[in-house]
Amino acid sequence: PGNQNQLNLAIVGHVDSGKSTLSGRLLHLLGRISKKEMHKNEKEAKEKGKGSFTYAWALDESNEERERGITMTVGIAYFNSKKYHVVLLDSPGHKDFVPNMISGATQADAAVLVVDASMGSFEAGMNGNGFGQTKEHAQLIRSFGVEQLIVAINKMDLVDYKKERFDSIKVQLGSFLRSCGFKESCITWIPISAMGNQNLVTAPSDAYLSSWYQGSCLLNAIDLLQPPLRDVSKPLRLPICDVTKLHTLGFIAVSGKVEAGVVKNGSQVLLMPSGEIATIRSIERNSSPCNAASAGDNVGISLHGVDQIHLIPGGVLCHPDYPVSVSRRLELKILVLDIKMPIIIGSQVELHIHHAKEAARVVKIISELDQKTGKVSKGAPRVLKSKQSAIVEVNLERPVCVEEFSRCKALGRAFLRSAGNTIAVGIVTRVFPLYI
Ligand code: GDP
Repeated sequence: PGNQNQLNLAIVGHVDSGKSTLSGRLLHLLGRISKKEMHKNEKEAKEKGKGSFTYAWALDESNEERERGITMTVGIAYFNSKKYHVVLLDSPGHKDFVPNMISGATQADAAVLVVDASMGSFEAGMNGNGFGQTKEHAQLIRSFGVEQLIVAINKMDLVDYKKERFDSIKVQLGSFLRSCGFKESCITWIPISAMGNQNLVTAPSDAYLSSWYQGSCLLNAIDLLQPPLRDVSKPLRLPICDVTKLHTLGFIAVSGKVEAGVVKNGSQVLLMPSGEIATIRSIERNSSPCNAASAGDNVGISLHGVDQIHLIPGGVLCHPDYPVSVSRRLELKILVLDIKMPIIIGSQVELHIHHAKEAARVVKIISELDQKTGKVSKGAPRVLKSKQSAIVEVNLERPVCVEEFSRCKALGRAFLRSAGNTIAVGIVTRVFPLYI
């Protein structure tokens, strides 16, 4: 990947809109997988039923290691465009897989919303009563802070590449997307056929389509996205994902993604929550040593001067003058997933924030939110059921390193789990100071 900027791209959309086909074709056309693998994937996706698709088949071990900074519950595959190292975040469209779609959405820098242009299918995706995942996914990715959207209007072959159909979808979906808070200037509309290889990585070969469409193909549209803001100018934040001991005596190595700031060889860093000062002995990026790394880089780092006991996943390396906040009480904006037992005051959960995992208890349900508008629809409800959105407060058994989502996305997104299932996803809206 060299020094290319990494772009985390979520592919979202209604079930059967063509997400798997599109992802597989892109990976094949860009030389990431063979034709055989592509067909195998398409066959498997069909056999297993919708939503079971993951990119596991496209990953090799060493790359999996390298991408460690990304939560491994999200299947990942990647390709390189001219400008970006594009990581595809797995997001099957099936209802049952909404959790996957969401974990992808919280990490996305931008998204491709795939819609099925064929008659009746686009309309089904826009249907309000429960099955319209086009709308649901668009709202979700927006609520997780994604601003840039490419709308891939797929299966144009089924509507004879008609401009009228493309335009009418653009008008209908466009007004909905604006109502979710997407800016017109941040939406790109592209007519494609994933199956027919039209407008994916080259200009369309279909004569009629190219007669009325002169815009970018999908790959070029990806290159035209604004590079994600990597907070290089902010103080260092490096959440520890993993800890390994190097054979050389006294060397301990941590791995993770630099989420903000820069880290330099020989410099001092503060390890939180323990508060120890450590010195950087070496930095490794893409399996080779380097002198410095900055926001967006996945690195391995060896340190000295810290007690090994305190080097644990969930710890955060920071700039010594600007420690990350540490807290035991958080306010979260959450979206409840499909759950059997409602969430009530007193519910015990496991809270996951970056690589930290901590026992927690819901201590307040402050308000329920209207999913479309995000405004308070009900004060202090007693229970939260599937699909509800709410503001809650949680108490943690032990303090975690955390920041408000608006300050640092990576340190401010949370997952609530119970009995091995993700029951809610959310973002940190307030961090209460730590009292002794
Ligand atoms: P997903 O559920 O969004 O991942 O959708 P899939 O990629 O599994 O596609 C659903 C169905 O639509 C499959 O039968 C595909 O072969 C078909 N399909 C996907 N893209 C196109 C396309 O561009 N044109 C046509 N005609 N069919 C397509």
